[in-house]
Amino acid sequence: MSQDVRLKVKTNFIKKYRNGFPLILSEAIINHKDLREEGTIVSLIDEKNSFIAKGYYGRQNKGYGWILSKNEHEKFDKKFFKNKIIAAINRRESFFADESTNAFRVFNGEGDGVGGITIDYFDGYYLINWYSKGIYHFRKAILDALGESVEFKGIYQKKRFDVKGQYVEEDDFVAGERGEFPIIVKENGVQFAVYLNEGAMVGVFLDQREVRKTIRDKYAEGTNMLNTFSYTGAFSVFAALGGATKTTSVDLANRSKPKTIEQFSLNGIDYEAQDVIVEDVFQYFKYAGRKNLKFDLVVLDPPSFARSKKITFSAEKDYTKLLKETIAITENNGVIVASTNSSAFGMGKFKGFIKKAFEETGYNYQVLEEFSLPEDFRTIREYPEGNYLKVVFVRKV
Ligand code: SAH
Repeated sequence: MSQDVRLKVKTNFIKKYRNGFPLILSEAIINHKDLREEGTIVSLIDEKNSFIAKGYYGRQNKGYGWILSKNEHEKFDKKFFKNKIIAAINRRESFFADESTNAFRVFNGEGDGVGGITIDYFDGYYLINWYSKGIYHFRKAILDALGESVEFKGIYQKKRFDVKGQYVEEDDFVAGERGEFPIIVKENGVQFAVYLNEGAMVGVFLDQREVRKTIRDKYAEGTNMLNTFSYTGAFSVFAALGGATKTTSVDLANRSKPKTIEQFSLNGIDYEAQDVIVEDVFQYFKYAGRKNLKFDLVVLDPPSFARSKKITFSAEKDYTKLLKETIAITENNGVIVASTNSSAFGMGKFKGFIKKAFEETGYNYQVLEEFSLPEDFRTIREYPEGNYLKVVFVRKV
């Protein structure tokens, strides 16, 4: 590994880094061209060559790495990572103690002091996501630290940085014993089939836990529910268990149908009484419009970006349009659960999209509830951008 690199911070960014901003931005660094090998230890220095903070070089989206310490002499070894992991686990004592849920995040990147890595817990199995080659360079220290900090059945990993961020198929098993997949985990008493060996998406997005529970406990009863971009149908399962008279799940991916049927069946729901449709959501909206279908409860949870044969969707550009089409097929007094995980905009702008969509369709609305990331997806004050999830429950009136 190459020698540590000293990075000179531009004057107007010095305060930001002294205040604890954790992401290394290329535009903040005068000599970022000196960075060669990911995993290199870097020290940020000011114009007088005084030390500010240190971290590592790793390319992740637009970032150039993460600050890990304000101590000039810090070593990023097993001991360092073990302290971070144990602190993260201690913060989640209530999650480990909760008997109705055994799937949650135990380590959330910069929120727990190490940007570029997350660790999720699935009933005794740990899943590590590596978001850059740079953090993967510390793999041995981190794996040893995790292994010494927890009891586990097995450890799996996903490298999320291969080939321009695309996931490359491989066996993700790292340590312990291999799982027999699916493993069945619990969330607020509901079961999910989870596959740690099948690619980046394992069957459930843990960050929507509170939203699923809220739908089941407060909004589903007696509704005709539509779940768009439904993936494995997690929202539909919670709605059905909450007393929805019928659910309709729509997703473009062929795999979504058997996966959704699997989730319904696991929870004792008759999947034949539900609709599970493999189709482009935008086509489905047209169909629903033609057939004059209307729903009492609609979940809208598109990916930040998606490309299908006909349409390229970007949450930032197209959310308002998507909402307008949703409003058209929602009953008066019906509820829309508008969700996005796009980090390109914040809650303020997102609520602006909602306002615009209702104004342009000529309906009024009422905001009922708002959600961002749950507690296990810890974020820090110094980096609010890390709280990417925005969910707003709105009533069409
Ligand atoms: N709401 C889901 C997660 C959605 S992940 C949950 O909470 O579990 C995004 C999903 O959108 C993927 O399953 C993908 O197949 C689907 N998707 C992407 N573009 C689509 C489109 N145009 N029409 C329908 N589904 C789409």
